[in-house]
This record gives sequence, C-alpha cells and structure tokens, in this order.
Amino acid sequence: MSRKFIKIFIIFFIGSLLLSACTYSDISTTDTPKAVDGILDLTDWDWKENGVVNLNGQWEFYWQELFTPGDFKETTPIKERDLIILPRAWNKLLIDEEELTGEGYGTYRLRIYHPDDEILGIKIPRIFTSYNLWVNGELIASAGKVSNDNQQTIPQYLPQVKYIHPETDVIELVVQVANYRHRSGGILESIQMGSASEITEVRTRNLALELFLFGSLFIIGFYHLVLFLFRTKDRTTLYFGIYSIIIGLRTLLVGEIYFIHLFPNFNWEIAHKIQTLAYYLSVPLVLLFLRAAFPYDVSRKVNTFIQIIASSFGLLVLLMPVKVFTPFNPLYQFFSLMVFAYVLYIIMTTCYRKREGAYLIGIGLTTLVLTAINDILFLSTLLSDTNNHFLRSIITRGNLSSWGLLIFVFTQSLVVAKKFSKSFSSVELLSEQLKHANLNLEEKVKERTRALETSKNELKKAYEAVSRSEKSLQCLMQNISHDLRTPLSAIKGYVNAILDGVVNEPQSQNKYLKRVIGKTDHLNHMVQELLDLSQLQSQQLKLEFTEIPVKTLIENLSEKYELDMLNEKVQFKVYYPNKWINDANNIEALSVRVDIDKLERVFSNLLTNALKYTSDKDKVQISFDMTRDQKNLLVNVSDTGVGISQEDLPHIFDRFYMVSKARQANSSGLGLAIVKEIVKYHGGKVWAESELGKGSDFFFTLPIHS
Ligand code: ADP
Repeated sequence: MSRKFIKIFIIFFIGSLLLSACTYSDISTTDTPKAVDGILDLTDWDWKENGVVNLNGQWEFYWQELFTPGDFKETTPIKERDLIILPRAWNKLLIDEEELTGEGYGTYRLRIYHPDDEILGIKIPRIFTSYNLWVNGELIASAGKVSNDNQQTIPQYLPQVKYIHPETDVIELVVQVANYRHRSGGILESIQMGSASEITEVRTRNLALELFLFGSLFIIGFYHLVLFLFRTKDRTTLYFGIYSIIIGLRTLLVGEIYFIHLFPNFNWEIAHKIQTLAYYLSVPLVLLFLRAAFPYDVSRKVNTFIQIIASSFGLLVLLMPVKVFTPFNPLYQFFSLMVFAYVLYIIMTTCYRKREGAYLIGIGLTTLVLTAINDILFLSTLLSDTNNHFLRSIITRGNLSSWGLLIFVFTQSLVVAKKFSKSFSSVELLSEQLKHANLNLEEKVKERTRALETSKNELKKAYEAVSRSEKSLQCLMQNISHDLRTPLSAIKGYVNAILDGVVNEPQSQNKYLKRVIGKTDHLNHMVQELLDLSQLQSQQLKLEFTEIPVKTLIENLSEKYELDMLNEKVQFKVYYPNKWINDANNIEALSVRVDIDKLERVFSNLLTNALKYTSDKDKVQISFDMTRDQKNLLVNVSDTGVGISQEDLPHIFDRFYMVSKARQANSSGLGLAIVKEIVKYHGGKVWAESELGKGSDFFFTLPIHS
C-alpha cells in the first residue's frame, strides 16, 4: 500500500515538474497595444511593470521597394503605402488588386511612441528569409543578404536580440525583407520589444530551455538506441531512440535556432531540409513505435500506407530545393493531422483493451500529438497568411512539440522501467522455480535410478533362476533317464538270466527276483516323488491336517526314528529342552496342526540325506525347540557329514538341484524341494546352514496352535 503511494507520489512529482516547465509561457502578453496605421502608441506603457510588447498590428508596408530610413525623411510620401497586420506572411496579401506570392521583397515601417528614455531590447525572430533592420536610422541587425535580385539574395534564419537607446519620443523601425527561397515571405513571428533586462531574460530562458530539451532528448535517444542494441527483439526502443534524437536535433533548428550560433555559415537550404525532414520522419516513426508496442492494435495496411506517403514526402525534401518542397508543406501538415487522429484512435483502443502500458504511453503520446498539432497550426498557412486569425491568441509558440516529446519520454521511460522491473521479478521467480524443479528432478532421477537398479537386479535374479531351472530341468531329464535306465537294465538283466536258464536253481532265482522287486520299488519311489512334487507345487494336493500335541509328536517321531536308525552306521539322537521334561504341563499345552504323513516325509527326506552324506562315526540328530518369539516349533536335523559349499547352499531347496559331486545313485534332487513345499503348506519356513566338511543343519518351523 505505502509502496504504491510512494510510486504515485514520485510519478506525480516528476510529471508536475515537467508540466510546469513546459507551460512556462513567454513574458509577453497578448492584450498589449496593437499598432494602428503604422503607429504603436506606448506612451502609457511602463516597461518595468507591463513587461515585453509584441510589436503586432498594422505596419506600413512597401511592396517591391527596399527603402532605407533616409527615404522616409522627406515630408511628402515617397510612395503610397500599404498596411500589413503582423505577424503574417505577405503571401495572399492584396496589393493593387493582386494577390502576392511568397517571392519578392518589401519594406516594413513602424513608429512607436514610447514613455521614457531607457535602454531597450529588441528581440527579432527568424524572418523569411533575409532582412535588414534599422532603428532610428541606425542599421542594428541583419540576416543573410537582402536584395531585389533573386540571385543576390542570401537567406538566413537568425533570431537575435539587439539593444537601443532611443533619445527621441518616437522610435522608427524600418525592416527590409527579401525572400526567394521559401514558400512564405515576411515577418511570420512577432518582433518583441521590452526593457533590456527583460528581453535578455526572455532570450536566455528560451535558449536555456531549448538546450535543456536538446540535451535531454539526445541522451534519452542514445540511451534507447543502446537499449535496442542489447535487446533487438523489442523495436519500441529503436523507434523511440531515433524519434528522440531527430526531435532533439530539430529543437536546435527552430525557436531560438541555437544551431546558427554554432555554425554561422551553415547552408540555409541544408539546415532547412534537416529541420523539415526531422518533422516529416517523426510522423511515421510515431506509427512504427505504436505498432511495435501494440502489434495487434495498429493496422498493418494503415501503417504501410503512412510509411509510403511519409517516405515520398521525405524524398521530395531530400531531392528538391526548399522553394519547391515548402508549397507541399500544407499537404503534409494535413496528412500529419490525419495520422495524429489515427494515433489518438489507437490510444483509445489500447486503453479500452487494457494493453500493457497503454495508459502511460497513451498519456505521453496524447500530449505529444496535441503539442505537435499546435506546432503544425502555428506554422500553417492558415495562420501565417491571414490577419489576426482567432487561433493566434491560442497558439503563440511554434515549438511546443519538443516539450510534448519530453512528457512522452517521461511516460515511455516509466513503461521501460516497469517492463524491466517486471522482467527482473519474473526472472527471479523463474530461477527460483527452476532451482526447485532441478532439485526435484535430481531427486526423481535418483529415485528412478534406484528403481531401475532394483528391477535390474530382480531381472538378473529371475534370469539366473530361469537359466538355473532350465539347467536343472535338463539335468533332471538326464538324471531321471539315467536313474530309470540303470534299474531297468538291471531288472532286464536279472529276468533274462532266469529266462535264458543261466540261473537255474530255485534259490538263486528267488534271490534274483527279490532284487528285481527292490529295483522296481526304487523306481516306484522315484516316480512317486516326482508326482508328489508336481502336485505340491501346483497346489493340487489336499493335506489332511490334524491337531496334535507337540509332546505326542516328539514322542512318536523319536520312537520311530530311533528304531529306524538303530541299524545305521551313525550315532542318532533326538533332543528337546530339559524344561519340557520337567514341566510336562507346559509342553502338553502346545500343539501343532499337521498332516502327519507329509510331516514324516519331511523327516525321512532330511534323515535320508543326512545318512547319505555322512560316513561311519558321524552323528545325526534331531532337536526340537521353540523359536525366540515362542510362536513356532523349531526343528533342527543336523549331521556331521560332508557339508555343503556356500555356493550350493542357496540352491539346495530348488527343484532338481543336485550338488553334482555329491550325486548318488538314488538321488533325484527332489527331496529338499518336497520338504520345502510341505513345510510351506504347514505355514512354516525351512532353511539350511552348513560348511563344507563340517556337517549340515537343516531347520524348519511349524506354527504353534494354541
Ligand atoms: P537328493 O535326492 O539328491 O538328495 P535333495 O533335494 O534331497 O536331493 O538334496 C539336494 C542336494 O543337497 C543334494 O544333492 C546334496 O548335495 C545336498 N544335501 C542334502 N542334504 C545334505 C546333507 N545332510 N549333507 C550334505 N549335503 C546335503
């Protein structure tokens, strides 16, 4: 809130400074006495109190005569005089019923009755286009060369201030003017008279303001051109820069025409061309600027049309002498007024459409356009070729557009500053977002990489598993065919021996037949195992669970296997915690839900393995305990046999996996896979711990059912 207030205050402050600078009007007043019949009566005029007088009104005018003050000394009139109401061009003046053109020469005369004897200042504006000025018979100022001959006349614009000390009551002003180069001839702006100090002040103030304007516009112009060089995408700065420089230059060529003091011998034609070109080019530049600022609002066709017209007029100025192109000036002035009307229309549409910066640019451009219209009217033939046009009281100065431009410069700078600060803010915001996005992105990349890594590992594992099982399958086929073929060929051998009569004796025959039965049992066992496993794995097998106290289970198993193992070469023992014996109630309260047949299968597989991979004097034992969380019965079948390498250990529960070194004739690689499936069916887990040469421990759990 307070920021906004400060902003508005600063804008208001600078704006009002500029406004007060440009509304600062001349000291001269418009309701000063006017000359009548070639005489200006200032007897009641107080120079100090009433200020500067514009020497306007009826002057004596002698067309096609170049009189000097001496010629007026005669008592009889030298020629019948005419009267002309200044300021105006002599164009279109009726003399001897003939309308004058701008070309020609003449003499002006004015007598002034003035109050007292004082040093006075005369401020002479630019006069079209050469003059000599006498005061009380003394030639005090001239510009260019006055002559009745076209070739001899040299044009020059030279506004100047001169001081006089009239000792008589009447001041006589005689001005010779000649023009062959401009469309308009004569005294188009007011000659001013006042106390020396005030006239000096008017001149100094005008010069100071114009130089200030020139400097400001030039610097602003260059600044915008440099801005454009840094950012060629935005064309508004280019057009605005050129515009400011052009108008800055023009400021030096109009008004007090300071330029002529810098280059006194500068060619009048060229200076005039530069000044006119500055005006001609400024009109299409405004349009170009507007189009760059509001591309969607300014019609392309209108813009092209304006550029073509303006360029043609520009070429005319460049290629033709001043006398030729100045008659076209009214046309171009009319054209400019049309363009300005269009500009005002565009300003209204952009404000209505709420385009960015429309209000600021609108305020600046409207001021510029209005001041430019003022200047155009001031210099127009409408005013310069007529007596006392009512607009003369409104339009008193011809170089307001530079001030208008200064206001426009101010508003445009605000737009640029606003644009910059907006861009800075959005850059800040974007970089903040980018930073955030980068962090997020990094995090996401890391996350994805991790996920990819995991799935890669999983794929690798799966691939390994697939290739392993494929290998196992191959192995199994080989093993099965081998394992089937060996007993089958043995059976065939035994039966052939009997049939061929090699074995004749009934006793021997009996022995052979028993061997045949043994082999078929083994075959049967293998086929059964395969069948069981495939059923288990495809979940087709229905288990018959019965709840059985842990104590009973242990007793039954111990009894059964202790008996079975009696005949084996190894030492066998069943262990369970001492407290189970001492606290029979405790153990009796625990039970498991098992399919007893399948569970026996687990034990027999594990024990068969233990026996297979042990030798004499090794120990095999079964231990029962509870898992640490007391939720499962933990069974451990251990032996002190050959053990399993760390390499093989993770795979021994896989289907068909066999450690080749340990391969035995009655191995199928299915035993542990069946164990795993059965334990899984019971809701338990199975694992093994082993070291090569140090025996193996097989563990499995059974959930306690309480
Ligand atoms: P197999 O019918 O070949 O014994 P298993 O699935 O029962 O098939 O066992 C897989 C492999 O695990 C066996 O080839 C063997 O090398 C190893 N193995 C199983 N039990 C033991 C053990 N108690 N001691 C050493 N190796 C064992």
